[in-house]
Amino acid sequence: MPERSESDSRKLLRRLRDVLSTPAKGQDRLDRITHIIADSMGTEVCSIYLFRDAETLELCATEGLKKEAVHKTRMKLGEGLVGRVARLGQPVNTANAPAEKGFRFMPETGEEIYSSFLGVPIQRVGEKLGVLVLQSKAARTYGDDDIDAIEVVAMVLAEMAELGAFGNDAGLALHRQPMLFRGTSGQEGAAEGRVWLHEPRVVVTNPVADDPLTEIDRIRDAVGVLRVSVDDLLAAESLDKDQKAVLEAYRMFAHSRGWLRRMEEDIQRGLSAEAAVEKEQSTARNRLEQVEDAYLRERLQDLDDLSNRLLRILTGQGRDTGADMPDNPVLVARNLGPAELLEYGRKLKGVVLEEGSVGSHAAVVARALSIPMVIHAKGITGEALNGNAILVDGDQGIVHLRAEETIARSFRDKIAMQAEAQKRYASLRDLPAVTTDGVKVELLMNAGLMADLPSMVGSGAEGVGLFRTELQFLIRNKMPQRAELASLYGRVLDAAKGRPVAFRTLDIGSDKVLPYMKPNDEPNPAMGWRAIRVGLDKPGVLRMQVQALIRAANGRPLHIMFPFVSEFGEFKAARSHVLREIHRERSLGHTTPSYIKIGAMLETPSLAYAPDDFFRLVDFISIGGNDLKQFFFAADRENERVRKRYDVLNVSFLSFLEHIVARCAPFGTKLSYCGEDAGRPVEALALAAIGLRVLSMRPASIGPVKALLRAADLSHTRAVIDEAKRAGSESVRGALGDYLAGLEI
Ligand code: PEP
Ligand code: MG
Repeated sequence: MPERSESDSRKLLRRLRDVLSTPAKGQDRLDRITHIIADSMGTEVCSIYLFRDAETLELCATEGLKKEAVHKTRMKLGEGLVGRVARLGQPVNTANAPAEKGFRFMPETGEEIYSSFLGVPIQRVGEKLGVLVLQSKAARTYGDDDIDAIEVVAMVLAEMAELGAFGNDAGLALHRQPMLFRGTSGQEGAAEGRVWLHEPRVVVTNPVADDPLTEIDRIRDAVGVLRVSVDDLLAAESLDKDQKAVLEAYRMFAHSRGWLRRMEEDIQRGLSAEAAVEKEQSTARNRLEQVEDAYLRERLQDLDDLSNRLLRILTGQGRDTGADMPDNPVLVARNLGPAELLEYGRKLKGVVLEEGSVGSHAAVVARALSIPMVIHAKGITGEALNGNAILVDGDQGIVHLRAEETIARSFRDKIAMQAEAQKRYASLRDLPAVTTDGVKVELLMNAGLMADLPSMVGSGAEGVGLFRTELQFLIRNKMPQRAELASLYGRVLDAAKGRPVAFRTLDIGSDKVLPYMKPNDEPNPAMGWRAIRVGLDKPGVLRMQVQALIRAANGRPLHIMFPFVSEFGEFKAARSHVLREIHRERSLGHTTPSYIKIGAMLETPSLAYAPDDFFRLVDFISIGGNDLKQFFFAADRENERVRKRYDVLNVSFLSFLEHIVARCAPFGTKLSYCGEDAGRPVEALALAAIGLRVLSMRPASIGPVKALLRAADLSHTRAVIDEAKRAGSESVRGALGDYLAGLEI
């Protein structure tokens, strides 16, 4: 076989481009293409197999095999040599196909007379579209030049497919089929809407280029711009160690000769600069799928990010493509920062992320805004297109993309039922949460953003039991100023209209790292230098925050509480900071609060055993059940594997909470519970039954919790719990379930 020259390759691509630019049906185009490729490559057979669905490949066009087999011959992913190419995302090249492991003979195609086989994947940026196959009678092994050339052809086919050149009739169901993604719930609730991609895919409209020299200039210029931008990023002073490591890896790739050389070679074979970048990116994505080593995966991910940057430089396409956001937008992104999510704000109907975690700040913001959210929806950014219909089930952590009508209909029923329930809860809004045996439970809300406050009226909350002040710090790029905070806290108090608001001082550290503060490398940050520990060791920020709160109160009552107090001494020290600031503010002539209540969050078991004097001195205690539970059970709240394993209805934990209630009782110390469990109706009822009279929760939970409390008898609930304990049950969930089944709620 003569060596294949680059100009042969370019000629072939040009012929393919002509097919694309001539109006024709999708099937006719595919037929022409197989003919041209076989002719140009000098082989008897050229076939194109495309995915019918995620698992099935179908012969869609062929030159050389029997025409009757077109749209009949199908194989599963991994089945036969074609299936193997598709699964591995790599070429299979053999002179004697029947002797190859996994070979499967398809009698209807008449392929038994062909010996050699070269199959290459048709893929675009990690998205598998099909397989391109050459076969010939002669036992011939294709050389590297042939393989390179045919891979370039496959890339052009992938771009053509993406541009819709083969239409539906060719059997390709690209971005059209219904897809289901199973992830994890980030925020409950259901939403129906249209996809809005945070980072829309770059559209390459010119996979083939006539003039390689111009294209090479373009890619060199673009890589030059990329290198400068990475170097600039690296020169920024505020980088932490991890950010620096990532950027160093970026720089390594950006300056890699091999990367640029491979792209230039593909351009010589006729690809445009953009298509050459995508081809390299596809290879990297493919490897990413097969690599298990975490370090290597990260590096390949870096290369992927870098390719995206390069494509944006080349095409001039930014995040803003000029497209209009659809009605009922559902944001789809790989990952998202809290500030970015806040910028979109309440106009979003739902959020779906490929990555993220339940405790991430984006999830915290989604919760604050009550936007249904699913995280860990693997592969969705590659599949979803702007404007696609999407259903988000935040309760189950499921996403339906382009759902069938029957699914959409049952989903709408679910939304309607939820709306119905909301209406019922709204009718309870102004009624107290009083149990049938006459016990009143105070229901407060958790908040952290100004945007939360309007929910106070709608939900019927009697105040804010936990205002997480760190959110204001997390969503900014620099430390907020005292005046800024004072004005914000003032507006929070205005919005509360005299209802109490318990401001929790900054709880940073652990998973909450401020972008503008140097992170500390700690082996176990959840048990590390966080919250009040930071506040006491470096009191500057604590004092500034307390001053802002005093000024915000401006003569009104003020409630301050400290997070993560583990011992009495810490509380005393933090409290004296507050008293000192009051004194200082007064001496500066500022108006001080009409009264001030200073509380502590009980989030570590140790505080439950603090001396009596602690319970005497502290004005109120709020149980931070999320943290308390993780330390009580030694089960990381961020770890999906163990997070849900133990719950608040566990008898040991309930007994521990009863102990806390008993410690507060003799001193009349006001006690509340503000962990997530307070917002779950059954859990809330159990908490009330063991003696908690104040529960603080997400505003959306107040209705359901109140409805159950108003229907239940607290002393009976207590008896059920006591009986389950006596019987030696591990959890009271079963016994409570039996009792609740008989109630009319
Ligand atoms: C808690 O730990 O229960 C709590 C309310 O605080 P956070 O979730 O902010 O740690
Ligand atoms: Mg906590």
